[in-house]
Amino acid sequence: MSRRRQRTVDTAVRCHYADQPSRRPQCTLTASVELGPLALCESCAARRSSVGKGQSSVALPAGPQVDVLTWIGAAHEHANAADRTLSAAITRARQAGHPWSDIGAQLGVSRQAAQQRFTRASGHPSPAAPDSKDKEATAD
Ligand SMILES: [Zn+2]
Repeated sequence: MSRRRQRTVDTAVRCHYADQPSRRPQCTLTASVELGPLALCESCAARRSSVGKGQSSVALPAGPQVDVLTWIGAAHEHANAADRTLSAAITRARQAGHPWSDIGAQLGVSRQAAQQRFTRASGHPSPAAPDSKDKEATAD
């Protein structure tokens, strides 16, 4: 018998496939069993093929259901935090003298797309850099 992982009682456990609505439209979101590191809802556990093969499922203790609106709020907070981190990293890269072309390459977009996105979104102008041609947002 495997030991049950200790969980906070008031935290809903999301199914591994909860964030793949197009792949698993029937997912009921709230996990009811664990297969090793994976938590699955009843529907996804019933449909699993190769996932968790050879592992026996362990029933999770009954807990709260996943609340999709709460999930939206939490995801929004995470997205905002990620945006702030990205913005800070880009500002630091600009301060270190990296051109927009290098930053764009890291983001998988063009120099111009990166520059337009982050000189507007950050709210503060980018420091002067070797390839800055556009002077419309200059303020220092
Ligand atoms: Zn599921």
